[in-house]
Amino acid sequence: MNHHPFFANRVAVLGTMHQKEIAIAPPLETELGLKIIVPDNFNTDIFGTFTRDIKRVGTQIETARLKAEKAIEVTGFKIAIASEGSFIPHPHIPYLPCNREILILIDHENDLEIIAEELSTQTNHNHQIITSVTEAQQFAEKIGFPQHGLVVMLKENPDNQSEIIKGITSEAELIEAVNWGLQNSPTGQVHLETDMRAMHNPTRMQNIAKAAQNLVNKLKSCCPQCGTPGFSITKRIPGLPCAACSAPTLLTQAVIYECQKCQFKSVQNYPDGEEFADPANCMYCNP
Ligand SMILES: [Zn+2]
Ligand SMILES: [Zn+2]
Repeated sequence: MNHHPFFANRVAVLGTMHQKEIAIAPPLETELGLKIIVPDNFNTDIFGTFTRDIKRVGTQIETARLKAEKAIEVTGFKIAIASEGSFIPHPHIPYLPCNREILILIDHENDLEIIAEELSTQTNHNHQIITSVTEAQQFAEKIGFPQHGLVVMLKENPDNQSEIIKGITSEAELIEAVNWGLQNSPTGQVHLETDMRAMHNPTRMQNIAKAAQNLVNKLKSCCPQCGTPGFSITKRIPGLPCAACSAPTLLTQAVIYECQKCQFKSVQNYPDGEEFADPANCMYCNP
């Protein structure tokens, strides 16, 4: 058990209603000495839902920040943590679906805000229009049901919660929900999609756990000048020389760490442990 100078033996409130403490609490408690609590009846749906009946209020980071501030407001504790997930195409590989998980820690006592993220191609995020129970069962098999939950909706963009059945995690519930959908849908079609809420999606829960570890690593990295946590990479400088011809490549030559409190900077050369790039990355040797 380590005792972090800023966080040991303090309480942090985690703003979640979807059991994210399962993934987030262990590394923060064992590696920092924080005590994580989850407030009763904390409603995060008001900040937006994956089923789109309630639109997200801001960007992913803004939404995570709002949840954390709300958790501080309703409990009176000084530290809060919140997470927000999104499902997006890969930034460099179009059509490859990704799960981006953002975690934020806000500490009012020390005037700190630290953000960590995890971008993963591990996701079952998917949807399908179906017209029969058999089609629903085929889709269910593909996305890892019943360990991963499903959502049945009367249409892709539902007007309100009366058009949605969430948290379907058994064959019997699936059949009942699909039959309800087929009977009530004006088009005779049902929109079926993966339930992306953490407690119904173990694949997403794993990505949240990785984001939590990234947050812990960031919090453990303190500024050499003022000691503030969150001393982390803010810039990557490309130009690692080709091993064959020495021309600069797009690979990282150096990284810059920066303190968000006192702006102290330090440069680390060759962060990947190599002083030269494989000629396969060189635009002259391997055009
Ligand atoms: Zn500093
Ligand atoms: Zn070269």
